[in-house]
Amino acid sequence: MRSPLIAGNWKMYKTVGEAVELVEALLAGLGSTTDREVLVCPPYTALDRIGALVAGQPIALGAQDVFYEAEGAYTGAIAPRMLRDVGCTYVIVGHSERRQIFGDDDAQVNRKLHAALANELRPIMCVGESKPQRDAGQAEAIVIGQVHAGLANVTASQMQSVVIAYEPIWAIGTGDTATSADAQAMHAAIRRTLTELYDAETASGVRIQYGGSVKPENIDELMAQPDIDGALVGGASLKADSFLRIVQFR
Ligand code: PEP
Repeated sequence: MRSPLIAGNWKMYKTVGEAVELVEALLAGLGSTTDREVLVCPPYTALDRIGALVAGQPIALGAQDVFYEAEGAYTGAIAPRMLRDVGCTYVIVGHSERRQIFGDDDAQVNRKLHAALANELRPIMCVGESKPQRDAGQAEAIVIGQVHAGLANVTASQMQSVVIAYEPIWAIGTGDTATSADAQAMHAAIRRTLTELYDAETASGVRIQYGGSVKPENIDELMAQPDIDGALVGGASLKADSFLRIVQFR
């Protein structure tokens, strides 16, 4: 049984004080959530404070990116061990904004994923096609190519710690969501690929999140799809009421 994972990616929003306010509101509204996992990914500057706030609470802490080296002269970079140190248990790798703005390619995503796993961080590996790629009928080929490249040399046993997030680029921050049928079709294609790369049992244990303008209005229909195991939420995770409603999907 896959336990759904609802994650908030706060991107470059929230000062430390604003982050604390949001997490306090989430903790107050959350209640018990034994059948689903809740994760927040604040900016680096807020990780330490939020890590202290959510320790022992039903909210996990994740980072939005990580560098693959353990330490060294890498100005501006953050190592996996530093994320563990402040209480992170998850880290996003390969978000389309990292790929498009910061030039992360599949090989770097794969290195980051291995670095995360080596440091007991669960990587959430993002994959997704652009609008021109979808319009050209290439969506599945692009996404499956990213899955192959990102998972190079990852073992079946390591896959138990890996989460994949399917995030069509054209749906991120646009208000334009993939239909639940299109999202389900891509999730099923990803799971088939995992069966080919590993085996059916491994594939059926991997959580595949959907991301791209997830909001209170569409979460229930998305989560009703058999291969959608959670959501990676940007804009709608920045306010307590909308994120809580998403977490409380039915
Ligand atoms: C994201 O940041 O991963 C995302 C999906 O953003 P949004 O929910 O705002 O589309």
